[in-house]
Parts: sequence; structure tokens; C-alpha cells
Amino acid sequence: MRQSLVVGNWKMNGSLEANRSLIEGIKQNIVSVKNAEMAVCPPFIYLQQIKDLLDNTNISWGSQDVSQQDLGAFTGEISISMLVDFGCKYVIVGHSERRSIYGESDKLVAEKFAKVQSAGLIPILCVGELLEEREAGNTEAVVKRQLDAILNLQGVASLEKSVIAYEPVWAIGTGKTASPQQAQDVHAFIRKQIATLDSNIANKVQILYGGSVKGSNAKELFAMSDIDGGLIGGASLKADDFLAIGQAG
Ligand code: PEP
Repeated sequence: MRQSLVVGNWKMNGSLEANRSLIEGIKQNIVSVKNAEMAVCPPFIYLQQIKDLLDNTNISWGSQDVSQQDLGAFTGEISISMLVDFGCKYVIVGHSERRSIYGESDKLVAEKFAKVQSAGLIPILCVGELLEEREAGNTEAVVKRQLDAILNLQGVASLEKSVIAYEPVWAIGTGKTASPQQAQDVHAFIRKQIATLDSNIANKVQILYGGSVKGSNAKELFAMSDIDGGLIGGASLKADDFLAIGQAG
């Protein structure tokens, strides 16, 4: 049985005050979340604050990105050893906003994935198709290409200590959620692809769904057999909404 996981991706939102009240709100009612592990990924600059607020709780935290480089003359970048210093458990890699706005290639995402694992942290690998790609019938080909970049660089064994998030780009921040069946179909496809190489790892790896998940639709999504929780954007910024999603886990 795979552990359910619900991760909040705060994106470029927050302030010292807003973060404090959000985390206090989550902590106050975390007992209502019975099955899911909960994690938050704030902007880098707030990691110390979040660490201070979440140390000695059962809520995890992570970052939204990492550099593929170790250290040196890379202005503006954040290294994996810095994320280790701040107690991160998870690192999101290949979010569609990184891929589309900042031009991150499959190869770069795979290098970041490898860097996260080299430090013993858990990458959350985002994959997912654009609307045009879905409409052209290319969803599986796109997701396979994104997954293959990891498999080719790191091998299937690397997936054992990773999380995959299927996030159809057309569903992110749009209010348009994939139907539970649409999401399940892609999750099952991803698991099947991995199973062709290692069925044990395919059974173990957590595959999260992301794209306009809310308290009102989380239960039916998470009820699907290959959906193991969610990567949550907008709804992770309000404690009650985030907790409601966790309760569905
Ligand atoms: C995301 O950014 O990963 C995401 C799923 O956003 P939203 O929940 O707002 O669609």
C-alpha cells in the first residue's frame, strides 16, 4: 500500500506574516489529516522560517527547484547542499512553469533530479502535456519522453526514491481539473512504463496528480487506484483548503 502524499507548491507567493498564519492554521488542524503525509514547498527565501515553524512536527517541507550545479559562479542559483542545510525533504523538479517560462529541457530536469538524489533528498518529478499535445493525441508520448530522460540518465532504480507528479499543463491554475478517469489513465500509463523495467518499483513509486485540485474534487481523484495524492498550487495557500485536500488522502 502506497503512502498518500499531499504537497503544497506555494510558487512565488507568501510573506513572513502570511506564511506564519498559513502554517499555524495547518498545524492547528493537522490532526484532521489521518492518512496523508503533508508537505509544503515555499519560495527558497522562506525555508528558514518554515523550518523553524515545522521542526518537530509531522509536516515536511521542500523547495520548488534546485540548481544542477554544485557551487560557484552561478548568480541567483540555489544548490542542493543549501537545501540540505535548511532541512528540505523534497525538491520539485521540472515543474511546467520552469519548463515553459524558463526553458528547462528534459535533459536539465534529469540533471536536477540526479543532483537531488545525490544528496539523499527526494525529487518530485513533474511531467505533463500541453493542451495542444493532448488534443493531438500525444499525451502518452510527451509523458514518456519526460520520464525517459530520467530513466536514461539515472536508470529505473532511481525512481524508487522519488515521487512523480502528473500535471497536465492545461489544468494548472486554470480551474480545469482532469477528470479522475483522465488522470488515472495517465497515471496507469506511467506505472506501466516503469513496470516494463521493474514491476516492484512501479508498484512502490508514488504518483501524485496536480492541476486545480481542491477540497471539493480531491476525494474522487485520490480514490483512483494509481493516484497517490496531489501536488497543489492555489489551494495550498489557504490552510482550510489544503487540510481538506489532505483529509481526502
Ligand atoms: C501546480 O502549480 O503544481 C499546481 C498544480 O497548481 P494549481 O493547483 O493551482 O493548479
